[in-house]
Amino acid sequence: MSDPSPPSAKPPRAQGRKTIRASLQPRELMTPVPDLKDVWKAKVITLLPAAFPGVLGESLTGKALQDGLWQLETIDLRAFGIGKHRNVDDTPAGGGAGMVLRADVVGPAIQTAQAGTSGNWPLIYLSPRGKPMSQQMMQDLAKADGVTLLCGRFEGVDERVLDHFGVQEVSLGDFVLTGGEIAAQALIDATVRLIPGVLGNAESTEEESFSAGLLEHPQYTRPAQWNDRPIPDILMSGHHGRIAQWRAAQSKDLTRIRRPDLWALRQGSDDDDDDDDDDRA
Ligand code: SAH
Repeated sequence: MSDPSPPSAKPPRAQGRKTIRASLQPRELMTPVPDLKDVWKAKVITLLPAAFPGVLGESLTGKALQDGLWQLETIDLRAFGIGKHRNVDDTPAGGGAGMVLRADVVGPAIQTAQAGTSGNWPLIYLSPRGKPMSQQMMQDLAKADGVTLLCGRFEGVDERVLDHFGVQEVSLGDFVLTGGEIAAQALIDATVRLIPGVLGNAESTEEESFSAGLLEHPQYTRPAQWNDRPIPDILMSGHHGRIAQWRAAQSKDLTRIRRPDLWALRQGSDDDDDDDDDDRA
């Protein structure tokens, strides 16, 4: 582990530098990042390395990145492109619209990414066909040694490369993005915040939405009155036991009404069991 003490002066940004070069030289195969031993790492294969760290460079995840609580490495897919123009895609076999990322481009990029990784290191392709992201998935990923994320573009990736490497597919939701980068950042954000030390208040990940298979209760803060709307009396009562009961009841009501799917899952198990086993692979 690196020294997690906060930097005193504003340090130079370690991530997300943009180098604009007026040449056709391929960029370096990887962004140079000093490897921190035993620190969770996301390796992202993308045609848009400049999109990283993006929002992950801000706020809590950004501070944690600077403090070495997690690491990010982008692998520029373009560098693996073919020929003078570094082509990465070609027309779909069998015809149809759009372009497909070539297996002989994505394959070597995956191989490069996986070199030097060890232990529990999932390889994930962000894809609308994938298993939907869930809090359980993020909890599992946070316990891994790291993750490699493949961001597609265009019509996606040649199926053979997915089969060859046994890539898992993971989806941000039932809609189609233009590329995997936003989904990758969502996955990294949700995972990194579960790494010990990243959030100030460790309790906040235990009580929040989904951690017990329920949505979170409503939250309030000052002022006590706003636009004729008071904070519910119970929250101002100081009775911690009753407040906890009220919150639990709100949580259950919200889940039942808004997410009957989650509620139904919960009915199959005891109230406070770890009932969010999610082993669909
Ligand atoms: N033709 C594909 C969609 C390609 S969209 C199909 O119909 O399934 C281009 C890329 O965006 C994909 O390769 C994938 O990496 C990413 N992407 C699109 N929607 C996504 C989603 N819901 N979750 C995760 N990644 C997604």
